[in-house]
Amino acid sequence: MRIDILTLFPGMFTGPLTESIVKRAQAKGLVDIHLTDMRDFAHDKHRTADDRPFGGGVGMVLRPAVVFDAVQSIPREPQAKVLLTSPQGRVFDQKYAVELSEETQLVFICGHYEGIDERIKDLVVTEEVSIGDYVLTGGELPAMVMVDSIIRLLPGVLGKAESPLQDSFYEGLLDYPHYTRPEEFQGLSVPTVLLSGNHAEIARWRRKQSLYRTLVRRPELLDKAPLTPEDRRWLAEFDPAFARSYN
Ligand code: SAM
Repeated sequence: MRIDILTLFPGMFTGPLTESIVKRAQAKGLVDIHLTDMRDFAHDKHRTADDRPFGGGVGMVLRPAVVFDAVQSIPREPQAKVLLTSPQGRVFDQKYAVELSEETQLVFICGHYEGIDERIKDLVVTEEVSIGDYVLTGGELPAMVMVDSIIRLLPGVLGKAESPLQDSFYEGLLDYPHYTRPEEFQGLSVPTVLLSGNHAEIARWRRKQSLYRTLVRRPELLDKAPLTPEDRRWLAEFDPAFARSYN
């Protein structure tokens, strides 16, 4: 996969792109990440990327030519997705991350100030994408969040031991609780089933924990999660109202 990030602040990406799993994925050649400084496409003396809004009002707007020329400078495959970070976009979630991880080229445009000139959306943007219902200063942090969660889904990036299949949301449920050594810490013990060596029992316990946590913390996820008849029985044991909702 090739990922392009268009930003006025490329320095912000040092760290997220140069550490840990994202660094390893690049080193293995599984993803190729390119940063483009949009200011390189502001050709006036002061390299101005923004301008005052037509109609007046507060804030500045990213000039269309700067963004357009930056996008055009990228070697783009015809099927490349151009994603504009925006609090008004489709809300990013695990399903969306999986969809995007199946693409071969993604281009992220990081907005700033009040946003970018609206016409860019018609000219080059495939989709607008938000990381949630709150407003950040720029699209850099959203791009980092999305790039990280997409890259960990690419085949070969995570080792078997770190498979994304068991993570929260992957199968529509929250993850089960995790423990490591020591068996007792500050008076708290590890659940005995995890020490039993009985793999079938451990798998059942983990599944039940996932179901219970999801029921208590994010019950709306259960509407879309693929549930087995046994899952439904357990959920009904935890909460009889769940059983009624399925009758
Ligand atoms: N005036 C815009 C609005 O209310 O829709 C917000 C502009 S925000 C200060 C500047 C830039 O940060 C946006 O253009 C976008 O690129 C990015 N941004 C802010 N919040 C975001 C979010 N929740 N998801 C994705 N991008 C966001």
